[in-house]
Amino acid sequence: MDCYVMTLFPDMIRNGLGMSITGRAIEEGLIHLEAVNIRDYTNSRHGKTDDYPYGGGAGMVMQAQPVYDCFRAITEGLDYKPRVIYLTPQGPVFNQSMAKEFAVERGIIFLCGHYEGIDERVLDEIVTDNISIGDFVLTGGELPAMCMIDAISRMIPGVLHNMESAEGDSLSDGLLEFPQYSRPPVWNGREVPPILLSGDHAKVDAWRREQSLIRTALRRPDLLEKAAVSPKEREFIRNYLAKGEQV
Ligand code: SAM
Repeated sequence: MDCYVMTLFPDMIRNGLGMSITGRAIEEGLIHLEAVNIRDYTNSRHGKTDDYPYGGGAGMVMQAQPVYDCFRAITEGLDYKPRVIYLTPQGPVFNQSMAKEFAVERGIIFLCGHYEGIDERVLDEIVTDNISIGDFVLTGGELPAMCMIDAISRMIPGVLHNMESAEGDSLSDGLLEFPQYSRPPVWNGREVPPILLSGDHAKVDAWRREQSLIRTALRRPDLLEKAAVSPKEREFIRNYLAKGEQV
């Protein structure tokens, strides 16, 4: 997948994504990442990319011209039309099913705003999707773009060596994941649940499913409405909650 990031801070993107699992995916060519500096495309002799907002008010606005020319330079060389995502607190909030949906795209352009945002006219001209990463306001779109690229890349075959680990993750089936444990069997006086040491895979799977249901009911009950949960499992949750227990 081609990921183009239009930004005023390309090193932030390269450094942030250039290590760990995303770094390896870039090295192995599973993701082609280009952080493109919007400033390189300004017509201003002083390298300016922002100006005062018409109508007054605080802050600066990123101008249309450098953003548009940067976009044109990226798309000129492409033989397909990529989706253009503007990272903005004004979009629908990114989630795991969007990550899966975007992972099948051939390429995506991520547009990072700064200051008070970007001149609306160029957004109208080039943006296909407005996406937020949550109901809070950050100083720029770089961290949101990195969050999205990280989550999307995990859905691209080959990026995770064991694709099963993504399939079992929280939210992949609409539920939170069960608790995980590793060696030693007793740490700080706390034991690993004995069933996990039993070697009985069917019982382990059943226990993990129950834990997912309980966890989701206690921590994110809002998710249960849409999750694939059988009537029998819903009854299990009701009985569990009626006992007033906590995990
Ligand atoms: N004045 C803008 C508004 O009220 O919608 C906010 C601008 S914000 C200070 C600067 C930039 O950070 C935005 O253009 C956007 O690219 C990015 N940004 C801030 N919060 C974000 C969020 N929750 N999700 C995605 N991008 C965000």
